[in-house]
Amino acid sequence: KYYNMVEEMKGKIRVFCRIRPVNRSEVAQGGGVVVEKSDDHSVNVETPRGPREFQFDKVFSAESTQEDLFQDTNRLIQLVIDGYNVCIFAYGQTGSGKTFTMVGDKDQKNPGIMPRSFNAIFDLMRENSPRFDFKVSAYMLELYNDRLQDLLVSQAGEASAQTQAHGPARRVEIKRNRKGVVFAQGAETKEASSAQELYALFQQACASRHISATKMNVESSRSHLIVGIMVESKNLTNGSVSTGKLSLVDLAGSERAAKTGVKDHQLKEANSINKSLSALGDVISALSAELPHVPYRNSKLTQVMQDSLGGNAKTLMIVNVSPSECNLDETLTSLIYATRVK
Ligand code: ADP
Ligand code: MG
Repeated sequence: KYYNMVEEMKGKIRVFCRIRPVNRSEVAQGGGVVVEKSDDHSVNVETPRGPREFQFDKVFSAESTQEDLFQDTNRLIQLVIDGYNVCIFAYGQTGSGKTFTMVGDKDQKNPGIMPRSFNAIFDLMRENSPRFDFKVSAYMLELYNDRLQDLLVSQAGEASAQTQAHGPARRVEIKRNRKGVVFAQGAETKEASSAQELYALFQQACASRHISATKMNVESSRSHLIVGIMVESKNLTNGSVSTGKLSLVDLAGSERAAKTGVKDHQLKEANSINKSLSALGDVISALSAELPHVPYRNSKLTQVMQDSLGGNAKTLMIVNVSPSECNLDETLTSLIYATRVK
C-alpha cells in the first residue's frame, strides 16, 4: 500500500482544498454561503453568473477536523523518513485558514499540520529505530519583502546591530553550491532530539517573528513562514545514509491590495507578495505540465523552496478558502490559482 503511494505521488503535485467555517463577521455582513464541497473531489461555487465547479485531489469541508486533514497528510511524513523531500504549503487570502491549517489555533486545542508532523516524525523514527540511527535538525525562516530572515538565531548579542535595521532576526542569503544545489546561507540549523524540542524551536521562531513584525509595524500575515526539517537516517545494517526534508510553508495572504488609499510600504509589500506567489504558481504549473524549464529563479520564495518542489520531491498544496459571499472574488482567484497548477 505504501509503495503504491510513492508511485502515485511520483512527479505529482497534489492539491487539497479546505473550506473553513463561516465566521461571525461574515454572518454580520449577510450574503450567506456560496462555496460548498459537492463531493470528495469537487467544490461548487455559486457566482452571479451561475455555478462553477473546481476539482481537487481532496476537498475538506467546514466540518472537517484537523485529524481528518492530517490523516491524508501523515503518509507524506513516512516519505521524509525514507529520504524524500516533501513540501506542504497553505495558500489563500488572509483569514482563509492557512495558519489554522498549518499551525493550529492560538491555544493549540486544535493543532495543525506542523505540530502533528513533529510528532509523526519522531513516532515513525521510533518504529524504525532498531535498524536505523536518526538525526533531526531544523531551520525556520521568514521571507518579507524579498528579505529572508532567520527566526532561530539567538537574540542575545546579535541584538545591537541587527535589531535597529531589521528586527532581531538575522539575514539569510540564497546561494548555490558547486553542484547547483540551492541552500539558505547563514540559516541556523538546530538539532532536535524529540518532538517537544522541535516544537520549542518552532515556538521560539514564532516569538521571533512576532517581535520582528511588531518592530517593523507589519502584520505577520504579510510574510511567508518557511520551516525546514531535515531527517538524516543511517541504515545500521549497511551503513548507508539518506536525508529527507520536510518543508512546511505558511504563505503570506494572497489578497490583492486595494487600489486606492494604501500606503507606500503596503504597496511594496503587496507587490512583493504578488511577485512571489505568481512565481510559485509558475513553478508548480511548469512542474505539473512537465515543462523542460522550471522558472525557480524568478523569486526568493521559489529559490528557497526549490529543493522541495520538482525532481524527486512530493508537493502538497492546500488552498484555503472562505465559504462566504463577501469573499467570493478572492475565493475564485484562489481556486483558479490552485487549479491552474493541475
Ligand atoms: P490565515 O492564516 O489564512 O490568515 P487563520 O488561520 O488565521 O487565517 O484563520 C482566521 C480565523 O479563522 C482564525 O481565528 C482561525 O482560528 C479560524 N479558522 C480558520 N480555519 C478554521 C477551521 N477550519 N475551523 C475553525 N476555525 C478556523
Ligand atoms: Mg495566517
